[in-house]
Amino acid sequence: MNKLQPNILLIYTGGTIGMIKNPNTGALKSFDFNNLLKHIPELKLLSCDISTVSFKDPIDSSNMNPVYWVQIAELIENNYDDFDGFVVLHGSDTMSYTASALSFMLENLAKPVILTGSQLPIGDLRTDAKENLITSIQMASLQKRNRPVIKEVGLYFEYKLYRGNRTTKINAEHFEAFESLNYPHLAESGVHLNINYDALFVPNVRRKFSVHKELSSEVALIKLFPGISKPVLQSVFSNPIVKGIVLETYGAGNATTENWFIELVSDTIKRGVPIINVTQCSGGSVSMGQYETSSQLKKQGVISGKDITTEAAITKLMYLLGEKISSKSFKTVFETDLRGEMA
Ligand code: ASP
Repeated sequence: MNKLQPNILLIYTGGTIGMIKNPNTGALKSFDFNNLLKHIPELKLLSCDISTVSFKDPIDSSNMNPVYWVQIAELIENNYDDFDGFVVLHGSDTMSYTASALSFMLENLAKPVILTGSQLPIGDLRTDAKENLITSIQMASLQKRNRPVIKEVGLYFEYKLYRGNRTTKINAEHFEAFESLNYPHLAESGVHLNINYDALFVPNVRRKFSVHKELSSEVALIKLFPGISKPVLQSVFSNPIVKGIVLETYGAGNATTENWFIELVSDTIKRGVPIINVTQCSGGSVSMGQYETSSQLKKQGVISGKDITTEAAITKLMYLLGEKISSKSFKTVFETDLRGEMA
């Protein structure tokens, strides 16, 4: 290993990016990551050393869950001192959830963790996988005065590096599958790699890196729609299993003003179950009190998700419930920007 160049740990969890066509049957199968350099000889040209580790049974990211998040976080934790950066290969379907979850789990992260994947398998002639993989590794290797440039969980896809917990998958077909509507891109890959230095997260490097592994799954995500009924909402809001709720409301955080709804919200919060208001819009922010249709929510103590994505809201809820934050301070902590996930 050349000590003068950064070394990167490539973690393969699954997804389309790691697939190749079986030449005999034409079927897609997972690619043997031990032979990575054989399939992508271009990687040898990069100015970094690459080590790889793969999930024993790579998964489609639709099967992603907190047990796997802990596995990824532990791989990073156990290798943190030995590597300058990490690239996580992941299916695109739930990549924004994983990026958000990891951002909360990896506290005081001072190295790059870049998630990437692709819409077409790496073995496909027209694949987007090679550029995504190669540039992600380059982003993770970027250093200034021997220190990594990116010190947060990022998501790289189709020429753009985003803050992971600001992203949403917006397209199932286009190569440009992700967007970060409430936060600028961290970097763009053109003829040059253009870094948006002002947008990068600045961690407190004096604090020790620590990994949080307790995540609560006793949470619910409810999207309001005109006509949603009391019994349906009651079955979730009044269920003792549910310890926290993310409520996707309309526009700037608005909801029906019908009495039964306000009472249900009020009773749930009084039982100590936090309700977080996030908007169904892809961009923009919740602003409770701006309209009459959100004033009551504010009055009952609903938490404002501000401009957070749904993916970041649900994983932040799972993280904070796992941290056993007291119900007294839960609202204040949730409304605090912890990892650059909200304004
Ligand atoms: N279904 C795949 C997954 O998320 C799609 C992809 O890899 O992009 O694992």
